[in-house]
Amino acid sequence: MLSDFSFEEMKEYALKLGLPAFRGEQIFNAIYSGKTLEEITNLPKALKDIIAEDYPKYKILKKFISRDGTQKFIIEFGDGNIVESVLMKYKYGYTVCLSSQVGCRMGCKFCASTLGGLARNLSCGEILGQLLLINRDIGGSEKNRQITNIVLMGSGEPLDNFDNVCKFIDLISSNRGLNISQRNISLSTCGLVDKIQKLSEKQYNISLTISLHATLDEKRKEVMPIAKRWKIEEIIDACRKYYDKTRRRIYFEYTLIKGVNDSNDDVVRLSKLLKNLNAHVNVIPLNEVKERSLKGTTRLAAYQFADLLKSNGVSATVRRTMGEDIAGACGQLRNKVLRENK
Ligand code: SAH
Repeated sequence: MLSDFSFEEMKEYALKLGLPAFRGEQIFNAIYSGKTLEEITNLPKALKDIIAEDYPKYKILKKFISRDGTQKFIIEFGDGNIVESVLMKYKYGYTVCLSSQVGCRMGCKFCASTLGGLARNLSCGEILGQLLLINRDIGGSEKNRQITNIVLMGSGEPLDNFDNVCKFIDLISSNRGLNISQRNISLSTCGLVDKIQKLSEKQYNISLTISLHATLDEKRKEVMPIAKRWKIEEIIDACRKYYDKTRRRIYFEYTLIKGVNDSNDDVVRLSKLLKNLNAHVNVIPLNEVKERSLKGTTRLAAYQFADLLKSNGVSATVRRTMGEDIAGACGQLRNKVLRENK
């Protein structure tokens, strides 16, 4: 698919078709403006016919707008698979939350994205496509970028789709792409230690976020099957090395689940684990998923947990919840749309 190509690759593609390089540039610009093939006006019909098979066929299938301004998009790809992407407006600009896979195979017990397992990986151009469509939907174009920040926190495990996610980071941060600063990109992972190491070698300036959600391996195994593969100590060790290599602060997500990971002992253990690491903890009250039995804590309990972390010397904040009235948590909206379309 043509959105998988870098600017240079697109020019080569044009040359291979026997076209002048500027045709490659025109196609590239159209894709980065989020245009459909029909909407391109500066290419001859015969040429459009030739590239039709390779031209991206993703589109916005549905859009939901929350009372707080958060927008959720259901994006459909050429093969009929759908993912969800979220647009959040902050004081400093727009942030998009992108999906990296259709479904997920990590099996976290609190997460709706993994309920149906993994359907397939997204290509780099499909991860990018979500952003290009949304940028266009809010009035942006290739030359007028509306989106400033990206979080790879939608459905899927980004490091389980390593090469496509890395190429996406290369594409989006390239000055021929939308030139989004790597400092404004966050990648969230459930902690695939070998891949964290591989990522550190890329020397990206992105923010690495670890979904920790427990302070004891036994408890972590109850909610995150990946804990059977990697110990918490191994994850922290990988983070330390990641920091030494990149000098980028590491973020931790800690979703509070009642009776599982919310005790005072958890605060103490978490503080010890993160000691001497340049870390910040995002405390998140669990967004209850109706197919799952786990219960969340109150927001007040989340503030108390974060305050205790701070008094133990760990930087922490409580994550704002956004878009709750439009099926807020990861994967909930996609499941709702899949059910309704059955
Ligand atoms: N697979 C990646 C990224 C996707 S999930 C990861 O595990 O980090 C993005 C974040 O949302 C993760 O921290 C995940 O644990 C959290 N999350 C998923 N479902 C949630 C829910 N129902 N309530 C609160 N946080 C949730």
